[in-house]
Amino acid sequence: MSSNLKSQARVVVIGGGIAGCSTLYHLTLEGWHDVVLIERDELTSGSTWHAAAQVTQFGANQTMVALKRHSIGLYRELAADPDNPISYHITGGMRLAHTPAQVDTYRHFVDMAAGMGVDMEFIDAAEVGRRHPLIKTDGLLGAWWDPLDGDIDPAGITFALARKAREAGAEVYRFNPVESITRKANGEFIVHSRNGDITCEKVVNASGYRVNEVGGMLGVTHPVTSMEHMYFLTDTMPELEALDFRVPIIRDPGDDFYSRQEKLGLLVGVYEQDCKTFGMDGIDPDFTQALCPSDLDRCLDNMERIFERLPALAEAGIHAVINGPIT
Ligand SMILES: Cc1cc2nc3c(=O)[nH]c(=O)nc-3n(C[C@H](O)[C@H](O)[C@H](O)COP(=O)(O)OP(=O)(O)OC[C@H]3O[C@@H](n4cnc5c(N)ncnc54)[C@H](O)[C@@H]3O)c2cc1C
Repeated sequence: MSSNLKSQARVVVIGGGIAGCSTLYHLTLEGWHDVVLIERDELTSGSTWHAAAQVTQFGANQTMVALKRHSIGLYRELAADPDNPISYHITGGMRLAHTPAQVDTYRHFVDMAAGMGVDMEFIDAAEVGRRHPLIKTDGLLGAWWDPLDGDIDPAGITFALARKAREAGAEVYRFNPVESITRKANGEFIVHSRNGDITCEKVVNASGYRVNEVGGMLGVTHPVTSMEHMYFLTDTMPELEALDFRVPIIRDPGDDFYSRQEKLGLLVGVYEQDCKTFGMDGIDPDFTQALCPSDLDRCLDNMERIFERLPALAEAGIHAVINGPIT
């Protein structure tokens, strides 16, 4: 990746997480080749490196479904590159229905997706149990099934997008914080970074949980806040070892969790009700490739319901808790 900064570019993207690298790549696809990305640290060092990295087509409107379908097609293509393979598991995924209203809503979304050629289905509770043998199906009315749900190596896909963008002419400058931005009378911006200034037509703020630090450089406050978000990883579970397939992703808006297989254990993320904000009073400049202290105690209510839905968890050891900012 380049170290000598250009002094002029059409676009400067600030932030080298999945959003910034994807933006850079898609600009080059649209024929914008004179574009650069500036990252204060290493690519992925914000929220991206620790994402659970589930990639789904679930969406409540056709725009979101189409965007997600586009991502899945692109990720499949990039992951299959024999020179730079990326770990990507397409397992299918289910969003559990606990109430008749959820059943109606999910059936509506299945039909909406069908109308745009996206194949999803509504499955009953017995089928939920067949597809995910670790779920206790008591109280469930079925699930909305996405056959292309899966999980990807988040760093692998981010670096692949950056590489593709660079091959198309974009430049990536790492370990180079943007320190301020000024605007010229003709509307152009000057992005002042530690290693030099770049004049550009457009700035993209893709700085994740530092979005308002960067916005503040132009006097902009974005209506965005970051929260702490937690998942835990279990040790190997004999129930998974015994299967000859990888279990699908679960998203459970009733018991407030999601789960996917990670190696031969489970990754379980908590949809917290009593959420905790992150960085409201400023963020330590050294907070990079970093996590918040683990705090599973604040999710005890969720944990009870999660263990009831996935009883095998009761015998599984937890070997890591990941608590990071999600914007
Ligand atoms: C525990 C957890 C689990 C998650 N699971 C999933 C999941 O399963 N699926 C999913 O889709 N999403 C998931 N997410 C969300 C996902 O991680 C984020 O939405 C995504 O990574 C955000 O990417 P980003 O590029 O917007 O931000 P970031 O990855 O935070 O990237 C922003 C970048 O900007 C850089 N930057 C900041 N300020 C400056 C500056 N002044 N100059 C230069 N660079 C700067 C930072 O260093 C950083 O690299 C999860 C998040 C968490 C916390």
